[in-house]
Parts: sequence; structure tokens; C-alpha cells
Amino acid sequence: MANGISRRELLRKSAMIAGGAAGATLAAEIITPLAVKEKLVFDSIETTLYAKDQPKKNKPLDRNLEVDVAVIGGGYTGLSSAYHIKRLLPGKSVALFEARGLGQGASGRNGGMLLPQPASEYMTIMDPGTHRRSYLETSATIKEISAIMNKEGLGSGIKLLGGMKVCVTKEGFEIARRYAPQAEAMGIPVELCDRKRLADSLGTDAFFGGIYDPNIGEVNPMKWVHALKKAVESAGCVIYEDSPVVRVDEGKKIRLAVEPAGGKRYTVTAPAIVLGTNAYTSRLGFLNRQILAVHTEIAATPPMGKNIFSELGWKRMPFSDDRKFLYHLGSTEDNRIVIGAGNVEYFFNNGLIYRKDIDIRRRALLGELVRIYPKLKGIDFEHVWSGLLDVSFDERQSVGVMGENSNIYYGIGYVGHGANCAFYFGKIIADLYAGKEKKWREMPFVNHRFPPIVVPEPLRYVGVKGYLGYLKATDVTI
Ligand SMILES: Cc1cc2nc3c(=O)[nH]c(=O)nc-3n(C[C@H](O)[C@H](O)[C@H](O)COP(=O)(O)OP(=O)(O)OC[C@H]3O[C@@H](n4cnc5c(N)ncnc54)[C@H](O)[C@@H]3O)c2cc1C
Repeated sequence: MANGISRRELLRKSAMIAGGAAGATLAAEIITPLAVKEKLVFDSIETTLYAKDQPKKNKPLDRNLEVDVAVIGGGYTGLSSAYHIKRLLPGKSVALFEARGLGQGASGRNGGMLLPQPASEYMTIMDPGTHRRSYLETSATIKEISAIMNKEGLGSGIKLLGGMKVCVTKEGFEIARRYAPQAEAMGIPVELCDRKRLADSLGTDAFFGGIYDPNIGEVNPMKWVHALKKAVESAGCVIYEDSPVVRVDEGKKIRLAVEPAGGKRYTVTAPAIVLGTNAYTSRLGFLNRQILAVHTEIAATPPMGKNIFSELGWKRMPFSDDRKFLYHLGSTEDNRIVIGAGNVEYFFNNGLIYRKDIDIRRRALLGELVRIYPKLKGIDFEHVWSGLLDVSFDERQSVGVMGENSNIYYGIGYVGHGANCAFYFGKIIADLYAGKEKKWREMPFVNHRFPPIVVPEPLRYVGVKGYLGYLKATDVTI
């Protein structure tokens, strides 16, 4: 979520972690993985608002299998890859293996903002050609998401009202002021909003101003998973749930070991696989030094009746701010307010289980909500939960293919910006698999190689915690 980090801070971070690296010993590199066995474990989905919207689970794998493409992970990346591969190449057999239930990772527990662009391009121009193209393509995928949800009978879970990026400081607003005309000149239909326009749209004067983007949407994240599941199955892909992949053996034919509950183990053989495993990827032995598993929290109020939004003066468009640990706010079909982030946590060894007292975050999120909307004083949340983000050292995203035999496809590094981007990356994965890589060669996030995080645990833990603490201490409050 910390996607507002400046170059200077990045350098400071590099220096801090490089300092840790200098102190690292070869022994620590070898001893840590031996001493602490990293397990594939999951936080329960049941505390989240969206548990009730989970699609009914499919049966686990019950035999050995040979397929053309095996997809690991039933979030947006895995589902979108399966969907697009089947649509492009209907003759290929595709099977998807999900460790628990579809959407039980970040995809079924997120804030539901459908944002154009990968995170590192969001309202930041690095290269004008890339920026324009990825904006146009990712705003088109938001419309596709809406079309799939409507087609699959889950259209009540999506709103396309546009959304805002709001600025907490005058300096932030200056950045927005520079971005908006450049973007408009490229045909990107964003609009700069001053404090008054923001107050008219959002019902709060907590921010200096911001940028309105008519292409931002908002989705019930689990209903989006459900719609994708239906679309993937209609396209002819078979989905196995409660089917964790516990081992990947590379080769021209990759062998996966799948271990459903009950002590059984089956082998899946495939000439190509897709890793849709987000922050859990290191547990399969991939990108261990490139991707950090980082936790963030989110909360939802009880239903408050639809008049609450007119009382607040909020036209229901979702918004997020420009802080280092940004906050994001949205609303649900049953008139709840959802507020997330303002914080991230890292646990030793890319720890997958949330180990903090979530009540501390409940209070912080409530405090922020009431600062933005003082009229809400006295309310409490009905649900507070956490989820995992996949953060690379350079905070970039990558979609591509890797492995000794160039047959392991992946999409990763979304940070808190993957509800739409993972769908887009699934489309790119299908093209790469179908040999259409030329189409994507210009895009910097295709086959982007992440810089490795060279520091072993426990120094990595100390470095990351130190850096997060520094960011928290220097972040802005409203
Ligand atoms: C609290 C929170 C709020 C967010 N808010 C937003 C937002 O508002 N807008 C936005 O754009 N993005 C948001 N995001 C980010 C977005 O949700 C993610 O980027 C996106 O869902 C990533 O999808 P994915 O399929 O790559 O990963 P995931 O959804 O995490 O899916 C990975 C799946 O792989 C499965 N898996 C892992 N290992 C194995 C294995 N070995 N075998 C089989 N299965 C395995 C997991 O069980 C999981 O289901 C948020 C994320 C969080 C956590």
C-alpha cells in the first residue's frame, strides 16, 4: 500500500537494507531456512465481510492428472489466466488448483476499488507511451469485469461511478496539479478537483484536493471471484479446491505434488504452469528473495441505510489518498462503509499468519473514519480483518515467464492494486503462453526482473521492520 514513496526514500531504504546486507553472514543464509521451516498456512476468511459471498466449493483433486496448463491459486491472477487461456486456445486442457477456497487470499477480502493502471503507473507518468497504453487497456478491463459480472448474474456487486485520488497535503496537491493536465493531454479523462469540488463529491473537507477518474469502479470482491469462477468453468477449465500444491519439480514437463486433506498425494504433470500465488509464492520456492509477504488491515461498518451517504454528502464514489500508507474508502451494496490500510505489517520469514492484535487497528481505522466524517462519531465496525499483499523491493509489478524451460508463467507485485490489474495480467499471461509476446514487448512490467532482496532472515526482518517504522513515523495525519 505504500505506493507514494519518493526516490529519496527508496534510496534511504536501499541504504538501510544494504547496511543489513553488509552485516549478513553466509551462515545466517544457510542456517535460517534450515532452522525455521516455512509452512503454507492461511488466515481464515470467516472474519471478513465477504465470507458470506463465497461461491460453493468444488471437490478436491482425487487422482493423478495430466493437463496442458496447470494453474496454481484461485485468486484473480489464477482465474483470469485460466479464463483467458481457454478463450484464446479452447483446445488446451487447463486445470486450476486452489489450496482452500477460491478468493480466500487477497482476492476475496480486499477493498474492492477497481483502479486503472498497475500500481507503479497509477497517476505517475514514467514513460508517456506506456502510461497512455496501460491506462486505456486497464480502463477497458474494468468494463470487461462489469460485463462478465452482469453476464454471470452477479452484476449487483459492481458500481462504475468513477473515483478519486485525494491529496492529504498541499505538496501532494501540487503533484496532482502537475499530473492532471499532462494526463488530459494524452487523452486520459481525469479531472483536477479543488477542495470545494472534493467536498461536493465526498462530503468532507479533510483533503486539499484530488483527481477524479471516471473509469474507477467498485466491486464486491468475492462476487467478482464468483463471476470469474463461473466464466472460467463455462470456458471449460476444471477447478479443484482444497487442493494445495506442496511441491513443484521443474522440467519440460513440470510435476506438481498436490496434497488434499486426508494424507493423500497426487501428481499433476503439465508442460506449462501459472503461479497465481501472490504473497504465498515463496512457499513454493519461487521469488523468495524478490517478494515480501506484507499484511494490511481493513474494516466494515454495519449496514447504515442508504440515506447515510446523502447525509454525509458523499456521492458514493470510492477514494484513496496519497500517503505512504494510504487509506482507501468505499461503500457496499448493503450500505456499509469500508475503510482499509493506513498500515502494513511484516512478520519474520515472510510470515503468512497475522500476528498482531487487530483491535489496535480497529481503533486506528475508526479514528481515521471519524476524522474524515465527524458525523460518524460513535459508530463501530462489524468486521475487521487483514489480508496479504505481495510487495517487491522496487515496488514494481511483473507479469511474464520464468524457469529453466521458460514454462512457469506468473503475475505478481500488485501491492494493494490488483483487483483489476490481476485480471489484466491474466490476459497478458494467456498471450505470452499463446506465443503473442511481441504484442507486449514494449511494456516495462512484462518480464520485469525484480531486484533480489539479498539480506537473509533475521536481518531482513530487522531491515524491513526498521524501514516500515521509519515510514510510519514520517507519514502525514489529517
Ligand atoms: C486488505 C486488502 C485490501 C485491498 N484492496 C484493494 C483494492 O481496493 N483495490 C485493488 O485493486 N487491490 C486491492 N488489494 C490487492 C488485491 O486484492 C490483490 O492484488 C489481488 O487480489 C491479487 O490477486 P492474486 O490472485 O494474485 O492473489 P490472491 O487473491 O492472494 O490469490 C492467491 C491464491 O493462491 C492460493 N494459493 C497459494 N499458495 C497455493 C498453493 N501452494 N497451492 C494452491 N493454492 C495456493 C491462495 O489460497 C489464494 O487463494 C487489496 C488487498 C488486501 C489484502
